[in-house]
Amino acid sequence: MNITIRWSRVATKCNYCSEMVPKDTPILVWYVKWGRWGKRFYFHPECWVKDRVWHLGDTPKPIDSRGRPRITLTDEDRKSRKRLINQYNRLSKHVGSEYDLKLLEIEEKLVILGGIPKNWGVM
Ligand SMILES: [Zn+2]
Repeated sequence: MNITIRWSRVATKCNYCSEMVPKDTPILVWYVKWGRWGKRFYFHPECWVKDRVWHLGDTPKPIDSRGRPRITLTDEDRKSRKRLINQYNRLSKHVGSEYDLKLLEIEEKLVILGGIPKNWGVM
């Protein structure tokens, strides 16, 4: 996990609230690596905290104005989802085609259980 807060050089969309982080205001840049993949995510600094708290699983994600569907899961589904995400995080530290296959399987299960976490980006 690699996080920095700097001045935004261009207006950039926040990965949490989907609003723009205006140029010349503080922007949080989060570089996430999974195995061989890496991706940068951009947030309003305060949105990053909200995003992380949401990922604890107890805080409902706000519905944003653009109507991104909200995840509604039963407690049981939520537990399975959390388990899969943990499993994914564990496996993604390894490199090798057998792991890639398992990661894909987990992704497929997650699509049914509320979708791939937004912050995983496109993989
Ligand atoms: Zn934001």
